[in-house]
Amino acid sequence: MQWHRLSLNELREKLLAGEVSSKALTEYFLERISKLDPQIRAYITLTGEEALKQAQAADEALERGEGEKRPLLGLPLAIKDNICTDGVRTTCASKILENFVPPYEATVIERLRDAGAVFLGKTNLDEFAMGSSTENSAFFPTHNPWDLSRVPGGSSGGSAAAVAAGLCAGALGSDTGGSIRQPASFCGVVGLKPTYGRVSRYGLVAFASSLDQIGPLTKTVADTALLLRVIAGPDPRDSTCAPEEVPDYLAALERDLKGLKVGLPKEYMGEGLDPEVRQAVEKALEVFEKMGLEVREVSLPHAPYAIAAYYIIAPAEASSNLARYDGVKYGLRVEGKDLIDMYKKTRSQGFGPEVKRRIMIGTYALSAGYYDAYYKKASQVRTLIAEDFSKAFEEVDFVVGPVAPSPAFKIGERIDDPLQMYLSDIYTISVNLAGIVGLSLPCGFSQEGLPIGLQIMGPHFSEPQVLALGHQFEKTLDLKPKEPEL
Ligand code: GLN
Repeated sequence: MQWHRLSLNELREKLLAGEVSSKALTEYFLERISKLDPQIRAYITLTGEEALKQAQAADEALERGEGEKRPLLGLPLAIKDNICTDGVRTTCASKILENFVPPYEATVIERLRDAGAVFLGKTNLDEFAMGSSTENSAFFPTHNPWDLSRVPGGSSGGSAAAVAAGLCAGALGSDTGGSIRQPASFCGVVGLKPTYGRVSRYGLVAFASSLDQIGPLTKTVADTALLLRVIAGPDPRDSTCAPEEVPDYLAALERDLKGLKVGLPKEYMGEGLDPEVRQAVEKALEVFEKMGLEVREVSLPHAPYAIAAYYIIAPAEASSNLARYDGVKYGLRVEGKDLIDMYKKTRSQGFGPEVKRRIMIGTYALSAGYYDAYYKKASQVRTLIAEDFSKAFEEVDFVVGPVAPSPAFKIGERIDDPLQMYLSDIYTISVNLAGIVGLSLPCGFSQEGLPIGLQIMGPHFSEPQVLALGHQFEKTLDLKPKEPEL
């Protein structure tokens, strides 16, 4: 049986029906990993032995009849390596945390564990989640399963590639400016950036705290709904985590959407958009019409300023968050002739070039005399961007558009041109600045056979509607279930 072809929801049924054991599933995925991961390189750390023990425990729990109330019992998952796992190395793909073993668990991991998940390992990312290609990993780049000479996107490239290549049944990533949605679109999988505050950030290594959110990467929208239900919800350990109750996202998938309105921002279909991506998005709009939704144009007039604002706000927050890596408290320490020298050596050897670039930009933008010109301005632009969306959502129920301007690019193609790399997130960043929901799901393939993603955006806490639209779109479009040839 080709278990990697089944969705989480399908695997769950098989487990509940006793048609497969968690142990057999886990062994199956571990075997695929050992066969295929040497070419993909999705994982930084594998936890096979632990996984088999967890699978054994899951099988016993299944036998005791705990399956119904534990929604992930026995399902093998992969976790982005910037989410803290108690006793398991959490590197952020950085030399500065290469040997860091957290003494505590992220809230999302606790919740997955309680729900019965099995953890296969920790996946590769751009160092500290800064990047759009996974090439900024201090260890190695990850390869796109659809074309090994291409990037899987980033920063959650390891998680996206692992789901696409069938090296796990589902995964978690984090999204600060597009890091779940862009790799999902490059790898032909589903990825969700939930509302800011929907999922606890406790135990997520901070990059830009006002933007970071954890979210699922899966094969289907229903799988994303399944995972989100488990990881979402209030957490006293994260004061930015919202008190809103968690709805049953799976039960909401079939709700009637006829007559609802979908808006396409005119700013998202202009210059710089690859013609094949444009075509795929236009085709998606036709599908929405066929589904009985109304499609119209909307405007997000401040969209052109999103990247500029983000590349002040995110580095500013990063420069402050990353000040903790000083060789004293934890992580790498490189001895020097005095304290200052030790700081210098530790930070120069521990951080890679992109992280250093962000720390410098952020420190500069926050420095006395420049704060008003940069950080304050960027924050004002951020408010305007959020207002653009609020206005659009008075006219329409959803905003849709491309996820990324092009399909996956070649490894090495953009690594020396940071501006070009930053442009990969032109359609995703506004969603983080506004704190709203963004779902990325497959909507077609390029002539070269590369996946293309569609983005569905909705207001704060609109996950039930956004997931329902994604799910029904997925069923109506019915993309032939292609899979990468490996
Ligand atoms: N690519 C963007 C950046 O480099 C977004 C990264 C992310 O969402 N973590 O900052």
